[in-house]
Amino acid sequence: MEVRNCKQCGKLFNCVGKPICPECMKKREEEFRQVKDYIRENPSAGIAEVSEATGTSVSQIRQWIREERLVLTSESADAGINCEGCGRPIKTGRMCQSCKTQMSKSLSHAFAVAPPPKEDKKNLGKKNGDRMHYLSGDNK
Ligand SMILES: [Zn+2]
Ligand SMILES: [Zn+2]
Repeated sequence: MEVRNCKQCGKLFNCVGKPICPECMKKREEEFRQVKDYIRENPSAGIAEVSEATGTSVSQIRQWIREERLVLTSESADAGINCEGCGRPIKTGRMCQSCKTQMSKSLSHAFAVAPPPKEDKKNLGKKNGDRMHYLSGDNK
């Protein structure tokens, strides 16, 4: 077992895959319960308000949202929770629904046949361009 300093309080503890000691874990869960209770009683409260009322740091609340333990009632740019794919404000997690869908799609197609190279289209456009050039010359 690995002995480490707790990221939260600095005390030495036996690390079991978590960066903070069991005592701080317990405190954090207690904090989470408080935040959850406050949100239940004040459904329209923003992150800053919840942070102030519960004494929990804004970054901690954001982390819980990223972990999908908390969900914003509506997408808000003020919350600072943005999709990692397209940057749109989201309610919870790391990505918006469409980026999630796109990602799972691209993952499931990772081993499918590659789409035809874009070269073809480019050549077609070039040909058209040439033809137009020829026509305009003919009109003179
Ligand atoms: Zn600790
Ligand atoms: Zn997105």
